[in-house]
Amino acid sequence: MRIVLLGTGAALPDPDRCHTAILITLDNGRHVMLDCGHGATRQLMRIDVNPADVGDLFLTHLHHDHVCELPFFVISGWILNRIGALNVFGPEGTKNLVSHLFEGGAFDADIRARGAYPARQANMEAIRPHVREYAPGVIFEDKDLRVTAAYMDHIPQEVSPCFGFRIEAEGKVVTFSGDTAPCKNILALSRDADLLIHECTFTEAFIEHRRHSKVGTFSHTSPADLGKLAVEAGVKQLVATHIGHVDSLSTVLKRAAKKHMPVELMGPHQIDAFVQEIRSVYRGPLQIAHDLMRIDL
Ligand SMILES: [Zn+2]
Ligand SMILES: [Zn+2]
Repeated sequence: MRIVLLGTGAALPDPDRCHTAILITLDNGRHVMLDCGHGATRQLMRIDVNPADVGDLFLTHLHHDHVCELPFFVISGWILNRIGALNVFGPEGTKNLVSHLFEGGAFDADIRARGAYPARQANMEAIRPHVREYAPGVIFEDKDLRVTAAYMDHIPQEVSPCFGFRIEAEGKVVTFSGDTAPCKNILALSRDADLLIHECTFTEAFIEHRRHSKVGTFSHTSPADLGKLAVEAGVKQLVATHIGHVDSLSTVLKRAAKKHMPVELMGPHQIDAFVQEIRSVYRGPLQIAHDLMRIDL
């Protein structure tokens, strides 16, 4: 299978990173996407994948940096001749989100206008995603693929549940953390994985700053804790993603973030800090994600 990290940034707009989205393409050509943050559709175009050919979308949680591209992705698929409906698997709240977007929702006028065109009228199913809200356990299984979800420790569960995935296909295991602080469930999902794609939002200097400035709860995983997890789980390959803009040179980001990040430390050298801090514990194959990074398994 081929895995492409379409977007590798965190919540802020970032000139160098799109929001979270991961494309998995099986050897039989089937495309499955994990999360649908900003930029996902255009990134698919850049790797010559028609967004209309992505049949299944699995959402980890409803933070905007994981779902905000949904209307553009779905409407683009419609215009790019999707056949039938997109399957969306999401946590509780996904039905509510999707029900407000398309016919009768925010993009109703657009859909009525475009729907007047016969070619669009012929594939109205394409803007009616099939949404299945899942609970922990095996959330999808067919001849190609099994997806198991478990609760992560990120947003308080009563506000909105957050999940990580263990994906089994072609005899391989790919684990994706979504967003999370270290927790037992991600260890279980990652056990002996061929590839762990795990969030790692801030380096230690940024975490330390946020601890002192009390700008909000820290519900992410530090590089050292990620290294520890990778060792404990026995993963064969690790990719750290959901990079929290710490490597950015953007003056807009630096100005906007100065209350909650040590912006004087921001810059590309932070990538070295991620590597060093993860490497203090984990010695196996490691990459720090960048947009359009490709991994073949
Ligand atoms: Zn996020
Ligand atoms: Zn999040």
